[in-house]
Order: sequence, then structure tokens, then C-alpha cells
Amino acid sequence: MKKVGVLSLQGDFAAHGAALERAGAQPVYVRESADLRSLDGLVIPGGESTTMLKLMRFDGLFDAVAEFGGRKPVFGTCAGAILVADEVSGPAQESLRLMDIAVERNAYGRQIDSRVTQIEPEPEFLARTAPGKMEAVFIRAPIIRRTGPDARILARYHGDPVLVEQGRHLVSTFHPELTADSRVHALFLEKL
Ligand code: GLN
Repeated sequence: MKKVGVLSLQGDFAAHGAALERAGAQPVYVRESADLRSLDGLVIPGGESTTMLKLMRFDGLFDAVAEFGGRKPVFGTCAGAILVADEVSGPAQESLRLMDIAVERNAYGRQIDSRVTQIEPEPEFLARTAPGKMEAVFIRAPIIRRTGPDARILARYHGDPVLVEQGRHLVSTFHPELTADSRVHALFLEKL
């Protein structure tokens, strides 16, 4: 069984652990650099990216995760997507720079910043997983404003990319760990 780390400093790491189990992987809760040893991939969960960033600086975890992402798949959801992006605005902050995307934090605005909605993933995603619409939970989500030439957009919401793959890495601005639909986690496990 694949062993997948879940960065567990802050945020909804427990929900990702449960989602990984449902998708058939063994979650490992990562709190320090040594926990990254012998993992096949890593999930960076939703939460508050600024706080996660601060906590990652403590024992060299920031550099260890950047190094891990240089050789193994990383899946970032929401705050996790902000952490793996090359470019962050709204406000700007440091990031791991694992994917050639630009994200704007909290970009849906204050009035309608969180919602549960139905999205229709791109045909490529449906072909690689299973057909059917997907429930997408957005919680103070960022908007992906730019994707690089190697990115594959696997789902959009109101025209903006919300599920994007680039090589071994994957990001979603919504929270697939909060619904019973395992397709996004299953797709990530295919990459390991
Ligand atoms: N708004 C958060 C941030 O900027 C992300 C929210 C989330 O992960 N649900 O870090």
C-alpha cells in the first residue's frame, strides 16, 4: 500500500487522512522533516497558508518539503495550493515554488467567500477517473490566475482553473477531502 504524508501542522489534515484511506492509501501525519522519509507522496491540506508557512520554518521543514517535491508528487489543496505555487498575491508571501502557477489568495471576496457547488470536471479528468459531476467545497479559496505551459487544467469553476496538474504535482482550490467523492485523491494516487 502506498504511504502518503499529510502535512499536519495546522488545518484539515485529519480529513485528508480519512480521504486517503478511502482511496486506498496509508496516511502518515507529517510534523517534522524526519517524517518525510520513505513516503511516496505528500498532501498539503487546507488551512491558513501564512500560519502553515511560519510553522514550516521551525525545524527546516520548509526546505525539506521543497526538496521532497523536487523528486516526489505533492498535492496541495486550497492553502496547500497557495504553498506550492510559484507566485502568490493578495498579499504576496513566500512559497515552495513547485508549480508554475500564480494564485491570488481569498480572491472570491468577503461576501461569497465560501460555498458548496457542483462542477463539471474536464473530459480528461472524467476519462482518467470516472464520469459524473463533482461537488466542490470552496472555503476562502484562492483563484488560480495563471498556469504555465506544462499545466493541465482538469476542472474549472466560472472559467477559472480549480484543479490543475503539472507533471507529478496536483493542486485544487476546493476541498475534495470534505466530500465522499474519492476521484481527486484516486487521481493523485495514480501519480505515485
Ligand atoms: N484563505 C486561506 C489562505 O489564504 C486558504 C483557505 C483554505 O485553505 N480553505 O491561506
